[in-house]
Amino acid sequence: MENHLHDGRRLNAPHYKVAIIGAGFCGTMVAVNLAQMAPDMPIALIERNADVGPGLAYGTPDPDHLLNVRGGNMGAFAGQADHFWKWLSKHPGTGATPNSFVQRRVYAQYLKEILAEARAAHSGVQVLNRHIVDIRRTNERFEIVAKDGQTIIADFVVLALGNFPPDRLSNDAEVIDPYAPATWKQLSEPGDILIVGTGLTSLDLVVTLSRTKKDGIIRLLSRRGLLPREHTAPGSHTLKWQPPHPKTVVGLLRAIRKEIATHPDVPWQNIIDSFRTPTQLIWQSLDQTEKRRFLRHLRPYWDSHRHRCAPEIMEFYRTLERDGRMRLHAGSIIAQTRGGQGWKVTWHPRGKKSDETFFVRQIVRCTGPQNDFRKLPDELVQNLLKSGLIAPDPLALGISTNLSFQATDATGKNVSNLYTLGTVLRGRLYESVAVPELREQAKAIAEQIAAA
Ligand SMILES: Cc1cc2nc3c(=O)[nH]c(=O)nc-3n(C[C@H](O)[C@H](O)[C@H](O)COP(=O)(O)OP(=O)(O)OC[C@H]3O[C@@H](n4cnc5c(N)ncnc54)[C@H](O)[C@@H]3O)c2cc1C
Repeated sequence: MENHLHDGRRLNAPHYKVAIIGAGFCGTMVAVNLAQMAPDMPIALIERNADVGPGLAYGTPDPDHLLNVRGGNMGAFAGQADHFWKWLSKHPGTGATPNSFVQRRVYAQYLKEILAEARAAHSGVQVLNRHIVDIRRTNERFEIVAKDGQTIIADFVVLALGNFPPDRLSNDAEVIDPYAPATWKQLSEPGDILIVGTGLTSLDLVVTLSRTKKDGIIRLLSRRGLLPREHTAPGSHTLKWQPPHPKTVVGLLRAIRKEIATHPDVPWQNIIDSFRTPTQLIWQSLDQTEKRRFLRHLRPYWDSHRHRCAPEIMEFYRTLERDGRMRLHAGSIIAQTRGGQGWKVTWHPRGKKSDETFFVRQIVRCTGPQNDFRKLPDELVQNLLKSGLIAPDPLALGISTNLSFQATDATGKNVSNLYTLGTVLRGRLYESVAVPELREQAKAIAEQIAAA
């Protein structure tokens, strides 16, 4: 199909109504929702990796890497929290219940099947295996450029870019991809290793290494040494809070503590979970100073209580600790220099006066995704920032958008026909990480595009 750009150039590039960049959970579910709402709409779902659907979160092949949300609430469609569970029930032999934390690779299978069904029923969805490096505005349309030079044209673009790797330290000491089987092999060699970060990704690595690493101590280090808490028995709590909510972080903390103290029979986990629905509203009602205060002081505590792990995962950790093969440290790395057969790490233990050192063969970085787009070495992100199609969120937690998930430029003006979703919306919504929030976003974006 022949297209004309605003400068009169003719471009012989395929033309789609919508181009979705990234085919993890978010991109896949925007495509599926859209295909159902507008069956004949030409949609390009573009993914740089060969695997389409699972993305980073569900792409792990390790059978011991489990979902951190119960299967009964992992349905991929808005308003159908039990959709995954119903799918699972049709696959006998998993032994799962709605309260189970299912293997993430099984969830990947689920997403692939949903996409395959949508494609079989709606011929408009086309999957393109490309690494997109630039998107340019060409009058009312977008010109989307891949690394290999191929170009497509689209009227709407959805950025579903997902989670970016963490920052590197000052030298090349660390192994960076905690989900690559080559990393697991490398870390399993004899000798002590250091995992920087103590969140859910670090625990995934601990689970894998508990089987594959036969020799050496695994050190886990983060500023506060906080591990994710584990889920308790299923249950619920009805939060009776009504707006207006406390407008300060201290006020909120007090109110949450009071809610826990006045319900001694309810596990704190259920009370924290009951905040899932109002969290986005509470976050939006805080001013920028209070939001920054939360990020500086409370974020690690909130995240480690809110985003918990399956009890089975914590069991792997405890076994290693009991066997003396695991050490948890709270502190900051001062320097890492080559020494002996690996690295000499100088670090400052939290609350202590003097620095300490240890030697490790390998260092792996699991400090959580880099959300500050200005610092990302990603070609597409840098080009989008340069052209002004996207602007960094003021809290440096992702991309600036309005409440309809439409990108806004540096002046706060909506960028027409450009949408985004997922973890890049943390600045706007804070809780924008897990499937229960993301399935709503995918549907809302599809509705807007279908209506347009
Ligand atoms: C390890 C891990 C485990 C998790 N477990 C759970 C869980 O159990 N339950 C839960 O509810 N949530 C979980 N989450 C949260 C998770 O963020 C969401 O559930 C969801 O999977 C995010 O999907 P996404 O599409 O936004 O991101 P991603 O899964 O990161 O997918 C983004 C995709 O975009 C592609 N891409 C990026 N840039 C380009 C480009 N320039 N060109 C082409 N393709 C590109 C990437 O290759 C990738 O496939 C987990 C997250 C992680 C990281």
